[in-house]
Amino acid sequence: MPVPYHRPSITNAETEAVEKVLESGWLTTGKITSEFEIQLAARVGSKYAVAVNSATAALHIALAALDIGPGDEVIVPTHTFAATAEVVIYTGATPVLVDVEEDNLNLDPNALEAALTPRTKVIIPVHFTGQAADMDAILEIARDIPIVEDAAHALPTTYKEKMVGSIGLASAFSFYANKTITTGEGGMLTTNDPTVEDRARRLSLHGLSRAAWSRFESGSSWEYDIVEPGFKYNLTDIAAAMGLAQLQRLDELATKRRNIATAYNQAFADIHQIDPLVVADHDSSAWHLYIIRLRLEELTIDRNAFMNRLAERGIGTSVHYKPLHLHPYYTSRFGFDRSDFPVSSDQFDRIISLPIFPGMTRDDMTEVVEGVADIVQSSRR
Ligand SMILES: *Cc1c(COP(=O)(O)O)cnc(C)c1O
Repeated sequence: MPVPYHRPSITNAETEAVEKVLESGWLTTGKITSEFEIQLAARVGSKYAVAVNSATAALHIALAALDIGPGDEVIVPTHTFAATAEVVIYTGATPVLVDVEEDNLNLDPNALEAALTPRTKVIIPVHFTGQAADMDAILEIARDIPIVEDAAHALPTTYKEKMVGSIGLASAFSFYANKTITTGEGGMLTTNDPTVEDRARRLSLHGLSRAAWSRFESGSSWEYDIVEPGFKYNLTDIAAAMGLAQLQRLDELATKRRNIATAYNQAFADIHQIDPLVVADHDSSAWHLYIIRLRLEELTIDRNAFMNRLAERGIGTSVHYKPLHLHPYYTSRFGFDRSDFPVSSDQFDRIISLPIFPGMTRDDMTEVVEGVADIVQSSRR
């Protein structure tokens, strides 16, 4: 039986919640979106949450709310998705890439320290795969420099008893189709800072003084002011209804992912040619991704050939990520090559993301584990 790389987990609860909104007469940002903000903030322990239509939007308005612009530098790990650095470019600031730690491919605090300049205005750690970056070290190095966390993989993630979403100045969550909870497309900015919340909320909807839904409430006036140019980043009540239903199921979904990761860890412990990522003791990962690393020195095939063999067996896989410094835009703009970020470059050649989604059956897991074991067996040096 084929095992897809991902399948979203949707129940009647999501379908019914969306139907109710469709029948309600109010489709766009409204009371359901407010409720989603309140419940997500409560779940991650932040004071405020601003719902938007992607994590990319959440990261962008966080930087804009901090007045990041031309001449500023923002530090980003090179081992991440396009969005983390692209939002820096939206603002006119310069993304400064840094290398990651070999154990878990999270931002390397030493590389961070070496990259700081007087122009560094924000640091964006990524909680890669759902495991928290070393926030204590990062906060200590950062001192007064604000931390905006890319928490797209990290719902729910704990770091030393604290939940991601309540640690740095602000955090961006993603509800993209394959994230740990989904609204199809969607995102949320969380923060404990009322100034950041206020400005980010305004920027998320054209820089207007008051959102449409509060203007249309009975007894309120039509009037609003354009306070500054903003963006069109608001979330619909349709998406928020789905998000609320998914959030209700967060513990169930997270437990299923964790169980799959535990089973994979056990199965791969005996396969010398495979190294899983290392999860620190003090952390609990959201397990958005499960990544294996090939000991290429001990195999006769490379990563892509390994993935092709898995695909021949009907097993979907992916690569997270081709590092930013190896993409043409960054290579040509900054003149990077592989040796500038040796850990990320080397790890990129070895990594494969295996299927991990709540609906995976025991048979699906067996299929993947046997597939990996067979391919290793037939391509050992
Ligand atoms: C998915 C993802 C994003 C972007 O999320 P969207 O909601 O699609 O904008 C940003 N950073 C990382 C690390 C991601 O995986």
